[in-house]
Amino acid sequence: MEKIEVIFKKEEIQKKIKELGALISKDYGDEEIVLVCNLKGAFIFLADLCRYITSPTSIDFIATTSYKGTETTGDVRIIKDLKMDVKGKHLLLVEDIVDTGFTLDYTVKYLWLHKPKSIRICTLLDKRCKRKVELDLDYIGFEIEDRFVVGYGLDYNERYRELDYIGELIL
Ligand code: 5GP
Repeated sequence: MEKIEVIFKKEEIQKKIKELGALISKDYGDEEIVLVCNLKGAFIFLADLCRYITSPTSIDFIATTSYKGTETTGDVRIIKDLKMDVKGKHLLLVEDIVDTGFTLDYTVKYLWLHKPKSIRICTLLDKRCKRKVELDLDYIGFEIEDRFVVGYGLDYNERYRELDYIGELIL
């Protein structure tokens, strides 16, 4: 039977996101930021993060796919593109988790084709020990070990996204 062992509780997550929001607001000041949410995993993180940012923001969504079950396939595809024209704008890519880095590397290269002024990355979770592509992450919530996690937007075969905590899925 599937079991979930709590790693980060709701309060811990909210405290961290508040800190990230303050840091981002300080860095961007009055400059407008386009928050680009990578669907589906980052949708809850984005919803909370955007409310802790005091700089002017607008929001758009992109969707990529590469995971099947608990394994990355390395074969990244964009399945939904941005709707806004982001030429000359500051983009902040909001990610749920960076694992091998293949998804993010591909997404950032793809986003540059839209000719933004800048691209920074904000991820809630960083599985650094699994990294296969070197990437500069600008804002990181928590670093985690090699565990398959669910909750707070993250799924296992489309389940558990609604949990207000993050936990390890034990199969
Ligand atoms: P990467 O391309 O960096 O290997 O994988 C990034 C994507 O894989 C994330 O956006 C996320 O959708 C998925 N992913 C990676 N690790 C986990 C995990 O521990 N749990 C869940 N639910 N998804 C993960």
